[in-house]
Amino acid sequence: MPFRFGKEPASVLTSGGGRRGRAGVVLAGALLAAGLTPVTGVPAVAADPTPGPSGKVTVVYEDDAIKAEDRRAVDAVRRSRVLEQVADWANASVALPHDLTVKVTDKVPPGVTDAVTQPDGRTIYILPAFLTEIEKSLDEVVKTVERPGLFPQDKYNARDLTALSTQFIFGHEMGHALQRQLMLPNLGLEEDAADGFASFYTVNEVGPDPSMAAALLFDEIARKQGQLTLEGFASDHPVTQQRVFNFLCYLDGSDPERFDRPLVGAGYLPKSRAPLCPQAWAMLDHGWWTQLGPHFTEAFRAEGDKSRAAARERLVAETKAFAEKLDEYRTSQ
Ligand SMILES: [Zn+2]
Repeated sequence: MPFRFGKEPASVLTSGGGRRGRAGVVLAGALLAAGLTPVTGVPAVAADPTPGPSGKVTVVYEDDAIKAEDRRAVDAVRRSRVLEQVADWANASVALPHDLTVKVTDKVPPGVTDAVTQPDGRTIYILPAFLTEIEKSLDEVVKTVERPGLFPQDKYNARDLTALSTQFIFGHEMGHALQRQLMLPNLGLEEDAADGFASFYTVNEVGPDPSMAAALLFDEIARKQGQLTLEGFASDHPVTQQRVFNFLCYLDGSDPERFDRPLVGAGYLPKSRAPLCPQAWAMLDHGWWTQLGPHFTEAFRAEGDKSRAAARERLVAETKAFAEKLDEYRTSQ
């Protein structure tokens, strides 16, 4: 019953894995002192010109701020150009109000140990030592975990897995940046939405490999974390093992005809969850296309609108299909 990728008991519930773009609270110094009235004749302070929606995403590897011991993992990510792929898609599709700089560097704000998005969504930091940690975990994975049939043999090595899982993690951070810069209305936890964007982007634009690599990595992280603590349960992230199943659920739901056999049939995604996934994916896909719709670039608008309409049609169809199976699903639980 390989519900987990590894060979250890599935009782481990852990937290963490990936860090947040913590909400920063800016206390604008609005001084409402009594008696202060505008002085006539003094010109009003000129408002900042409204920034045009022409922000660009740029990926920067700060070579002089990357330790020798981290260069191998950084090189795996850099040569694969997985970060640039995400950045290129965002630049082509979304008109950001501000530039977004993605820095792979040791020069990070205090306390940063992994990948983070700053509260204004204008900077993402990726710590090189975090990439080394990922690579070490995945080196352990390839030695101890049987390759899932869905994941290609020629990429089942620490280097390729590091690049692919980093693309998924960067997708998560890009999800935060989009939410913050575009002030997207959020109906759930921001961390869930960020994971959702990672699935939305990678499944649509890249294929199954980043989701599979991230699932393998997070499964390994969960195993290492051991018993879940109170702080783990209280995290703003879903517990790590839960995230593994969420990644797999969206992937499966995106194309059940293709993925049911290698994911559900092979026991990676439990049969209790799988029937929910096509509708869940359709909702996520429709959700992100709809959220991004008002912010499409002119060049992308026609294609984006088409994707959004298709996603809506699919959501209607999947909801109807699920309604027809609902009695059977409920009684099987
Ligand atoms: Zn996050």
